[in-house]
Amino acid sequence: MSLQGVYDGENIFAKIVRGDMPAIRICEDAATLAFVDVFPQSPGHALVIHKTSRARNLLDVDLDDLAAVMATTRRVVRAVVPALRPDGVVISQFNGSAAGQTVFHLHIHIIPRWEGVPLGRHAGGMADLDDLKDLARRIAAKLEP
Ligand code: 5GP
Repeated sequence: MSLQGVYDGENIFAKIVRGDMPAIRICEDAATLAFVDVFPQSPGHALVIHKTSRARNLLDVDLDDLAAVMATTRRVVRAVVPALRPDGVVISQFNGSAAGQTVFHLHIHIIPRWEGVPLGRHAGGMADLDDLKDLARRIAAKLEP
């Protein structure tokens, strides 16, 4: 059952943390990593993960690890707004495949939104990598220490 289960260390985000899979990084600290979603629902769609937590979702995450993830989420949102000038920003997190979760390593979605622009499909088409690198660079440039 996807809502509860055993953490799989071969999931995509674990591979990204280990450097076994590439990712376009926005920022990283001792505990957390933020990178762009390669199948973005909007320009600047970013993901924040804990690097050592083996939490699959919100049900099994340690509170200190969650606090670190949320601190990085806030830091990235505070950079996304001046970098991309969205009209709003959605923060989302899915628990279990029935809720839309596809990668079972806890992660927070940061999805910038613009008035009148429909949300793209969840885990839909792959974006141009140069465009993603440019977005990551623009967001990173606005990060506060
Ligand atoms: P979930 O569906 O689990 O909430 O979110 C997983 C997210 O990971 C999706 O938005 C999907 O587009 C994204 N994703 C899937 N594979 C990769 C990948 O290899 N690299 C990156 N950067 N994002 C991925």
